[in-house]
Amino acid sequence: MNDPVLLTPGPLTTSAATKQAMLRDWGSWDGAFNELTASVCRDIAEIAGAGETHVCVPLQGRGTFSVEAALGTLVPKDGKVLVPNNGAYCQRILRILDYLGRPAVALDFREDEPADPACIDAALAADPAITHVAQVHCETGTGILNPLPEIAYTVARRGRRLIVDAMSSFGAIPIDAQSMPFDALIAASGKCLEGVPGMGFVVVRREALAAAAGNCHSLAMDLHDQWIYMQKTGQWRFTPPTHVVAALRAAIDQYREEGGQPARLARYAENCATLVAGMRALGFQTFLADAVQAPIIVTFHAPADAAYDFKIFYRKVREKGFILYPGKLTTVETFRVGCIGVIGAATIRQAVAAIEATFAEMGVTNFAPDKQ
Ligand SMILES: *Cc1c(COP(=O)(O)O)cnc(C)c1O
Repeated sequence: MNDPVLLTPGPLTTSAATKQAMLRDWGSWDGAFNELTASVCRDIAEIAGAGETHVCVPLQGRGTFSVEAALGTLVPKDGKVLVPNNGAYCQRILRILDYLGRPAVALDFREDEPADPACIDAALAADPAITHVAQVHCETGTGILNPLPEIAYTVARRGRRLIVDAMSSFGAIPIDAQSMPFDALIAASGKCLEGVPGMGFVVVRREALAAAAGNCHSLAMDLHDQWIYMQKTGQWRFTPPTHVVAALRAAIDQYREEGGQPARLARYAENCATLVAGMRALGFQTFLADAVQAPIIVTFHAPADAAYDFKIFYRKVREKGFILYPGKLTTVETFRVGCIGVIGAATIRQAVAAIEATFAEMGVTNFAPDKQ
């Protein structure tokens, strides 16, 4: 039997070619592997629109490791970080800063409301001690898209530094280092580039990285040290995730063949539109308004019907070949469905049919949410 389709925002369904690329063992000191690393980093920098001004520093581990590494390396010990907060991944940044002992201020928004550049501007004007802004691009907790270009200009106009968690948007939603000023942009192998999980990377402004020596609280998380070592030797500091790098190389080759960022966005947008239309036809309501929905992951209100139970719903949809994602909101009962991975609109239609059949089996007849 085939593995179920992952309708989750990473790990996600990968292609056979990407899986096959992992069927080789690589020596971490070997020239062939160093070339593989260099080519992946070059391509990632190019996808971010980075010219000579930025470099791509990879880091072993999951995406959160790279977020922590970027914050720990780039924010000096006497820095202060503004975190526009409209969801779970923004809150994770606040927790990381707390662990790191870097002063932080949360600028709170509702979870269905994009971060507002005018509020960010006012917060920066009011507090000259703020040195950095840490912004999540697509907040995967709900699927909301924050207006990154406008936020980048706002932060730059105020002379502050921007660190972007673009984990769930990079590769699909346009990002251009030349036209949107940022010091660091963080993403990972197992999201919109459709590789497997296991490494992150930070596209970082060369000058900011060079000035960051000695900032980091942790040897393993020190991006400056990783970069210096890699420049000197072409190798990763400490054991690299060799198979993950090989899979990412294959995934980026397929990304190029598909047509790069515009093609990836078009496919995800079609997946998202197909999903939302199909679910609305059944009577479901989305948590977000269409205007602020990124085509990455969609949050749906759970039905108020007493026969609904997420665990049973999940298991029955899984039996039909699809893995869904629980909601991440504390105030309302929701579930999420991802639009990313090596899937197209036909798969999404099958998933909607599986959801419909499951609710019929469960005896859920009223798909409307609780009145808020
Ligand atoms: C996936 C994701 C991360 C990283 O999560 P990991 O589980 O550590 O890979 C960070 N930020 C956002 C916005 C994400 O979507």
